[in-house]
Amino acid sequence: MEKKQFDLNDIVEMKKPHPCGTNAWKVIRMGMDIRIKCTGCNHSVLIPRREFERKLKKVLQKGEKEE
Ligand SMILES: [Zn+2]
Repeated sequence: MEKKQFDLNDIVEMKKPHPCGTNAWKVIRMGMDIRIKCTGCNHSVLIPRREFERKLKKVLQKGEKEE
C-alpha cells in the first residue's frame, strides 16, 4: 500500500468537499491528529491521522517551507 505524502502547510483535496462547497484544505497542524483548515470559509477540523489518510484524495499544492 502506497503511503500518501503530506506535510505542514500543504493544500490538500479530500474525498468529500466541505459543506461550503470548497474542496481545498490547508494542513495547519501535524501530529497524532491532523488539523486542516478549509480555504473557503476558514473553518478548521481536527482529524485522527489514520482517518485523515483515508479521507485524503490528493495533495494539490506543496506548502512553503519556512526556512
Ligand atoms: Zn468551508
